[in-house]
Amino acid sequence: MSNRFPRVGVIGAGQLARMMVAPATALGVDLLLFAENAHDSAAQITHYVVGDYTNLAEVLDFARQCDVVTFEHELVPLSVIKGLEAAGIKVYPSSSAFIYSQDKAAMRAKLARFPAPHSKVITKASEITSFPVIAKAISGGYDGRGVWKVNSQEDLSEILRSTSPLLIEELVQFDTEIAVMVARSPHGQATSWAPVETVQSDGICIMTITPAQKISQATAEKAQQLALEIAQEVGVVGVMAVEMFVRDDELFINELAMRPHNSGHWSIEGAVTSQFEQHLRAILDLPLGSPEMVHPFVVMGNILGGEKMDMYRPYLHLMARAPQLHFHQYKKEVRPGRKIGHVTMAGDDLLHLTQEVAHARDYMSGVIDE
Ligand code: ADP
Repeated sequence: MSNRFPRVGVIGAGQLARMMVAPATALGVDLLLFAENAHDSAAQITHYVVGDYTNLAEVLDFARQCDVVTFEHELVPLSVIKGLEAAGIKVYPSSSAFIYSQDKAAMRAKLARFPAPHSKVITKASEITSFPVIAKAISGGYDGRGVWKVNSQEDLSEILRSTSPLLIEELVQFDTEIAVMVARSPHGQATSWAPVETVQSDGICIMTITPAQKISQATAEKAQQLALEIAQEVGVVGVMAVEMFVRDDELFINELAMRPHNSGHWSIEGAVTSQFEQHLRAILDLPLGSPEMVHPFVVMGNILGGEKMDMYRPYLHLMARAPQLHFHQYKKEVRPGRKIGHVTMAGDDLLHLTQEVAHARDYMSGVIDE
């Protein structure tokens, strides 16, 4: 049988690849994953090969079996992406865009004309004389790791001993953190979803609320416009998260993630087109789907690993209590603080949604037991 449907290769087989499986199946698009091992979240449910994503020869072997290649984490070395490009492989986002999600200093320089915290790259503590500041590893940080609030030159010296150079940023006293998800295709069609409020605890996002409530309509529109302009500026293809801080009606770009992102998970049930389907459409250069919301409000809660190991039994209580809840299991080993799943609820009573999602999230994690 001739198969005119393309095959998409995804480097990485975590939960983001896992959540791409359902829309790929619906579209009839084949997915082939490049997994670290057979137990990876997405390798449990679709075709994969196992390999080392830092080894260009292995990634090339994989990529040659696919029509287009994308990746679901920021750890793929830029040299590997460039190696794929040099071999004529279609890979999105391209190395020229991806660098801005991997290298925070390059991103700050590239986006100098956009509103952002003041920043500079340093190698010596004496370069900073007024505190507190935020210090960031230039690459490799996630979920607040690689980000420090620093109060003195001594503390800065200590961090520089293990991490140098550092990106130093002005500490923004923001009212709220938001993320705007955008998608852009190779021929430049771009679209964005409603801004999302990301509620953080200890540097980890524990809940998202869409549309973001603590900002005005004008600020929401400005945020979407900024995210679309940034997508164009960096030339991303695929889905990208633009994280921002909001202070009054002022916006500050925090960082970019060029892949489906935790702050877009709500779109699976809450938007006409989910971020996972949109990513596939974008990298395949298909017309993009509507990002419109299908409910007035959508709340998502991240389930973090805790004491509880059994993630199935809680369904009995939670499904009986709130039939509108949606569950997503990543089927990852439960480890303290690790994102192992999420729950989503959509509707028109925001207070009810946040209460039920917080309850389900904490019950699944084992923080509460009734
Ligand atoms: P990660 O790579 O871990 O996502 P981020 O750059 O998003 O790192 O920083 C993690 C958190 O640290 C942010 O969500 C925010 O709460 C805080 N933060 C980062 N930069 C600043 C800043 N310039 N001012 C104030 N808080 C910041």
